[in-house]
Amino acid sequence: MKNRGNMIFAMVLALIVIAAIALMVVFSQKDDVSPSNDSTAATNANVKTSDDYKKIDTKGQPVLGDKEAPVTLVEFGDFKCPACKYFDMDIQPKLVKKYVDKGDLKMYFINTPFHGGESITGANAAEYVLANEPDKYWDFHNAMFAAQPNTKTSTEDKWLTIGKVKSVAQEAGVKDIDGLIKATKDSSEQKKVNKDIKLFQTYQINETPTIIINGKKISNQLDIKQLEKEIEAAKK
Ligand code: CA
Repeated sequence: MKNRGNMIFAMVLALIVIAAIALMVVFSQKDDVSPSNDSTAATNANVKTSDDYKKIDTKGQPVLGDKEAPVTLVEFGDFKCPACKYFDMDIQPKLVKKYVDKGDLKMYFINTPFHGGESITGANAAEYVLANEPDKYWDFHNAMFAAQPNTKTSTEDKWLTIGKVKSVAQEAGVKDIDGLIKATKDSSEQKKVNKDIKLFQTYQINETPTIIINGKKISNQLDIKQLEKEIEAAKK
């Protein structure tokens, strides 16, 4: 009986030890969580500041307006993004009329292809137009946004096809349509698109459009009043 009692005691002890080990594993796993929290903190420490955004390299990017204009607006945008369509069709003409035409503002566009293959197609086509017929770039850019369907699912819908590139280019008055179609099919401008991708990754751009005015990331980027306020402040 005594031996049996010892055996039960040993078994209970073993169970306690197993439970203790299990608890230690659980707690050590909890500890494992904290390094990732630390890495989040480290990421936060790397959050881009105005000084960083001022250094965005806009060389080779399409620009609307006088390069000497005192205020610089950088848009990270995507032809497949509905909010970018709104920015391009509703806000951009107002800013052009009020600031760009008066020499106060210049606007850059950096491809930020967030919506898969068709975003890449649009970016390649636009880069080709920029490189080969730069005076047609903004007509092509605006016509592409105008061609984006007004549906809530335009980011997923298939519409930015080679056929669409062709009709948009014709509408924009691009002369070398055949060259553009071949280049788009071959992704001949992918290096430039990759340069843009590297830019939005470097600056941790996570939404489109992201609008930066003289280094300041604008939080209400679709609010014309807010944008005007920021441009007025940057002019001074
Ligand atoms: Ca570009």
